[in-house]
Amino acid sequence: MDLKSGYPFWPIRNGLMHAFPRLSEDLRCEVAVIGGGISGALIADELAAHGHDVAVVEQRDIGWGSTAASTALLQYEIDTHLADLCRQYGEDQAALAYRTCADAIPALQAVARELRGTDFQRCSSLYFASKPAHLPVLRNEAALRRRHGLKLRWLDGQELAQDYGLTAPGAILSACAATVDPYRLTLRLLARLQRRGVGVFDRTHISQLRSTSRSVELRTGEGLRIRAEHAVIAAGYAGQQWIDQRLARNRSSYAFVTDPLEAGQLGRLGKTLVWESARPYLYLRATRDGRLIVGGCDDAVDVPARRDRRVESRARKLVRKIGERFPGLRLQPAFAWAGTFAETADGLPWFGAHPQYGRRVQFAMAYGGNGITYSMIGAGLLRAAIERRPHPLARLFSFERAG
Ligand SMILES: Cc1cc2nc3c(=O)[nH]c(=O)nc-3n(C[C@H](O)[C@H](O)[C@H](O)COP(=O)(O)OP(=O)(O)OC[C@H]3O[C@@H](n4cnc5c(N)ncnc54)[C@H](O)[C@@H]3O)c2cc1C
Repeated sequence: MDLKSGYPFWPIRNGLMHAFPRLSEDLRCEVAVIGGGISGALIADELAAHGHDVAVVEQRDIGWGSTAASTALLQYEIDTHLADLCRQYGEDQAALAYRTCADAIPALQAVARELRGTDFQRCSSLYFASKPAHLPVLRNEAALRRRHGLKLRWLDGQELAQDYGLTAPGAILSACAATVDPYRLTLRLLARLQRRGVGVFDRTHISQLRSTSRSVELRTGEGLRIRAEHAVIAAGYAGQQWIDQRLARNRSSYAFVTDPLEAGQLGRLGKTLVWESARPYLYLRATRDGRLIVGGCDDAVDVPARRDRRVESRARKLVRKIGERFPGLRLQPAFAWAGTFAETADGLPWFGAHPQYGRRVQFAMAYGGNGITYSMIGAGLLRAAIERRPHPLARLFSFERAG
């Protein structure tokens, strides 16, 4: 699966940070993790930290899938409003999903704190009403979130103009958000695991999987065999190819990053990520070195060549949209790129075993706008599944939802 177009910023900025070997002989382990992106890295880290014998196998270079293209806004806010999730799954489950996402931000911070230079930064999140007609829905959403213990403030149009230079009629300002360099976080996590004796192999494609009630056997494209008690398929959007059921739809998302802006130009945007109530949404975040990353203009294109051709025109459109919302900002893209991005109907991810493979094979499909937050939750959820313990979100995030 061709996951990205153009020049994603993170691998250009960081280069190939660390070399991992290919798998060169048959392997036995307790848990084989397929996929060396942020999901596979967080899951392997969680399992290894709790005494499991793990190996990670990646077909590309580590971190070179969607993780390299991610704009990495870390939010508790799910693309589906809490009010809509309440209608679908009941207030208890919906609020639990939101609160667990909120808990995942400090959990990611704790992971990042143990590593060098991941550029993890706590910040606020500003969710603005794209037009006056969206105000009642957002006010209701703010009240509902407050009732469930989520800390936020309501800002009116005047405050938005004054404090953020933003033209919008109102917004929810939440204190719970963060940004990170997702490529570095992944590389650093897996390099640390490797130093601790975990097998991390890249350029190794898994082409076959056979599971029984007692074990799992994987075959690589070169015919090597991996025997494990459990497999975790953290294959990103390519994970869909393993299951004969439609679970998500692929879209393309576009982004650009500027050069570092002059001191003072960012103002509060340096510590606030911004997104909006229209769909697809426009969003932005700052980097630690004073750049702005802007993204959005998602479309239904799922053909890499067509997506490649659209990168530059989409970047121009994003610049225009930012100019309309932030009249004081004149942005110039330094790098522009696009990535495949899978969306579920309800904005929730899929984590757990699927009936097609039985309980020895766990899937990690962190689909949706806050995929990295989901990956953090999924790490704990899948460890619980492997250890045969309950997890509060196991049911809501499971394939049972798919019917
Ligand atoms: C443009 C863009 C913007 C985004 N913005 C955000 C954001 O702001 N916030 C957020 O939280 N999320 C965001 N996301 C989503 C987020 O990036 C993803 O949720 C996350 O990167 C997924 O990580 P992953 O490890 O599951 O997948 P990947 O990074 O794709 O890793 C999966 C890996 O599995 C490997 N693999 C697949 N099949 C095999 C096989 N058979 N054998 C061996 N290896 C295999 C792939 O090569 C790949 O490297 C964005 C995504 C895109 C594209």
